[in-house]
Amino acid sequence: MVAYSTSKLTHGMINMICPKCEKNISLFSKTLNSFGKEKKCPHCQAALYKTMNFKKAMALSIPTVLAYLFILQPIFSIVGMHKGLGLAVLVMIVSQCSLRLTIK
Ligand SMILES: [Zn+2]
Repeated sequence: MVAYSTSKLTHGMINMICPKCEKNISLFSKTLNSFGKEKKCPHCQAALYKTMNFKKAMALSIPTVLAYLFILQPIFSIVGMHKGLGLAVLVMIVSQCSLRLTIK
């Protein structure tokens, strides 16, 4: 059995679901952003591994790039925000959304 979960939007926040106890773990929580490959679920203490879902990353990239080019880039130029910074933020969001947690 392969136990894993993907990130999902809950109450407007991006959350990961613990594959063991099925509770929400915030993507911005200390647990998921700590150094080292092994993470611990703050609820059940299960050892979790963060892995990249490349298929999902590819699928997310296309609409994100389109949204960037046609919606966000003009906004960034109006507010005078550095375009590279906006793109970096988008890349970060896409990669965070493409992560999944796996129990070893
Ligand atoms: Zn858990």
